[in-house]
Amino acid sequence: MMLLVDGGEAVADAPVPRTGGVPLVPEGFVWPDCRECGDPLQFLAQLPLDPGAVAVFFCQNDPGMCDDWDATAGANRAYVFRGPLSAAAVPAEGETLLGAVTALRPHPAGTPATEPVLGRLGGEPDWIQGDETPDCPSCATRMTFTAELEEGADFATSANFGGGRGYVFHCHPCGEAAFLWQR
Ligand SMILES: [Zn+2]
Ligand SMILES: [Zn+2]
Repeated sequence: MMLLVDGGEAVADAPVPRTGGVPLVPEGFVWPDCRECGDPLQFLAQLPLDPGAVAVFFCQNDPGMCDDWDATAGANRAYVFRGPLSAAAVPAEGETLLGAVTALRPHPAGTPATEPVLGRLGGEPDWIQGDETPDCPSCATRMTFTAELEEGADFATSANFGGGRGYVFHCHPCGEAAFLWQR
């Protein structure tokens, strides 16, 4: 288990764990739209997975209106990406990008961190509400916990979970990922 601490500003397409910036995606990737409002989702974070990476998107077009906290409502999306990745083409319209790019630097849990803790990789989810571990949409088995994200200092530049915490899951064999948040 690793903490993810504030690693400072990063460039938009940095191949590092981060919130904000432009997602690194495989060829042919189509930017996801919100299933509820129909507008493009916002890229929230990319997180390391072995192998690959998880990219998380959620709807911020009209915060509070779409169920962007829900793993299955279609107002967020998470992907497992493997293989060669490059910066995505960002849609011209919609609330697609965070206001800042913040590196998430892995830091060993159990040793004090001087920087703000912005999340955690691995281990078990630290639920605010009850256990909402999603089932894989492909194989219906309980998904594996990947990471959690803490709310940042400013919703314009970092994650906005209404004062809560985001949770990322994946299914290794299916290459599926899921996201939800609680408060
Ligand atoms: Zn929406
Ligand atoms: Zn699966």
